[in-house]
Amino acid sequence: MLINLLWHLQTVQADPANLYQAYSWETPPSILICPDSTLTVEEIKQAIYYWNGETDTTFRYLRINHVSHCTFTTLNTIYITEKLPNNHPENKLAVTNVQSYHYEDDPTINYIDIAVIDFSSNYAHNRRVILHEMGHALGYKHSNHSIMKPYL
Ligand SMILES: [Zn+2]
Repeated sequence: MLINLLWHLQTVQADPANLYQAYSWETPPSILICPDSTLTVEEIKQAIYYWNGETDTTFRYLRINHVSHCTFTTLNTIYITEKLPNNHPENKLAVTNVQSYHYEDDPTINYIDIAVIDFSSNYAHNRRVILHEMGHALGYKHSNHSIMKPYL
């Protein structure tokens, strides 16, 4: 009985839940909330908590801070901003762009060094949108995973 239970837990843990991870962070990033963003540190922490529960890895970060200025150029940083128009022509609710690098001896492993999450203000506090965009910032691409589907 105990063995069965353990086996079950292991299969649940090993199940990638249809996640497709294309990038990862080589070293823990800082998460900076830009002046135009109304997101709270707590909302971001909850998203990280969600992803840690969803995967068998623990995402590590250096700090989550509100900052008075964003350059979008500091390496090892996730920037959170809120300037995407609410009437975006393609109906985008939020967009995450990542910059990545790899080493010549293994081009199959891609590491993110900058991620910029840009929310439209109407969806900046929508839990599913936050989880989805944080998923991108952690390296997940669109898939049939419940949160990483391309549409809300
Ligand atoms: Zn997406």
